[in-house]
Amino acid sequence: METKQSELPNLSELKKVAELLSRSQNTVVLAGAGMSKESGIPTFRGEGGLWTINGEPPLNQYEIFLDNPKQWWTEKFTPTNTDSFATALDQSKPNQGHYALVQLEQLGIISHLITQNVDDLHRQAGQISITEIHGNRYWIRCITCNSRWPKKSITIQQDLLPPICELCNGILKSDTVMFGEPIPPNLLETCHSATQKADLFLTIGTSAIVYPAAQFPIMALEKGIPLIEINPETTPLSEFALISLKGPSGKILPEIIKLISEIHTRKV
Ligand code: NAD
Ligand code: ZN
Repeated sequence: METKQSELPNLSELKKVAELLSRSQNTVVLAGAGMSKESGIPTFRGEGGLWTINGEPPLNQYEIFLDNPKQWWTEKFTPTNTDSFATALDQSKPNQGHYALVQLEQLGIISHLITQNVDDLHRQAGQISITEIHGNRYWIRCITCNSRWPKKSITIQQDLLPPICELCNGILKSDTVMFGEPIPPNLLETCHSATQKADLFLTIGTSAIVYPAAQFPIMALEKGIPLIEINPETTPLSEFALISLKGPSGKILPEIIKLISEIHTRKV
């Protein structure tokens, strides 16, 4: 389908970003919920976001889990109401933006992708070097040793809840990071060291106000690493970005790929 020109930033800005990316060998990306909007998954914040409409959920989800993990798991096995967000996640497929990021990784431009999304779509598209900083909805994690497994690979016995880690006897929970739950330190360390080595930083579809994820573009800026942003709305990072491309990532990223291939063709 042809992209409407009005959805895209002007061509000279897109060309500048394509030039910057084509010279980079170490771009680090921070992706957020906006990245998956064109896969049919609503965002939380921003125009039409679930929290913009319904308000924010309770902030002590992890405390509730720790108080009674058995109860939490029992409820998991007996869902009482249909959750439209879960349905959207389960029915989603990667969009053109996800595939464009895979191409940028294969071209040796993107070295690491930090995603706040739990939807698995970067993996499904084929991205290799990823940190899922808020977890993956299709994985399970031990809260003691932080080992992770795809849900499909383990059997949870409903008469023995909560499930226990075979490696350390810790309690297992869904890998998705709950409100009030610390992010596993090993993940933060990976994001930190990737950012330290970056020569370009790209934020896509994130309101950039959820910490600690939002600290990585700030860290990059403090190191003098140029920041590029893709988001239809202005964020707290927009004024610091070298270029802020206003529009949907599923449309903008494939256009950038086209421009990068033109640059490569000119060079041969
Ligand atoms: P957010 O919901 O706070 O913000 C989404 C951002 O995406 C907004 O700034 C919005 O302007 C932008 N956006 C909307 N449409 C877009 C498009 N087509 N292209 C590019 N950008 C677009 O998201 P967040 O900052 O990622 O933080 C919320 C938290 O909620 C995340 O940590 C994540 O864990 C979780 N979440 C995950 C999913 C998912 O896995 N797909 C979806 C919703 C929320
Ligand atoms: Zn363990």
